[in-house]
Amino acid sequence: MAEKKSSRNRYNCLKCPAYCCSYQHIPVTDKDIKRLAKHFGLTEAQAKKRFTKKGDEESPRVLRHKDDEHFTTICRFIDSETRNCTIYHARPEICRDFPSQKRCGYYDFLTFERAVQDDPDWIATTD
Ligand code: SF4
Ligand code: SF4
Repeated sequence: MAEKKSSRNRYNCLKCPAYCCSYQHIPVTDKDIKRLAKHFGLTEAQAKKRFTKKGDEESPRVLRHKDDEHFTTICRFIDSETRNCTIYHARPEICRDFPSQKRCGYYDFLTFERAVQDDPDWIATTD
């Protein structure tokens, strides 16, 4: 989840159920873990164990998930009701960068389907 709509960006995370936060492998770096540890007043080892898990070759450490009504699972830091990030100022670098361009493909899809289905609250699930 990057930011709300602006003149620069053609997407609005505040109208989205945080699809990008449901990606299975959201990579975290040592610097991200350090930031999380500072945010929660934990040691880096504690933060690493509590908030991250083993990933794959490309992303050795990734954020832990929790159950989610829309996407089966989602990042443990999402607020399930508001769909906002609960650690916005301490979120990993990749969350700040995504989608790294003016458009978000999921948001384009979401707005198209909401218009076609005449349902402003429609959500694409991954079930
Ligand atoms: S999927 Fe796109 S619109 Fe939705 S929260 Fe992520 S960046 Fe924002
Ligand atoms: S840390 Fe925040 S922005 Fe990043 S995936 Fe988790 S809920 Fe989304």
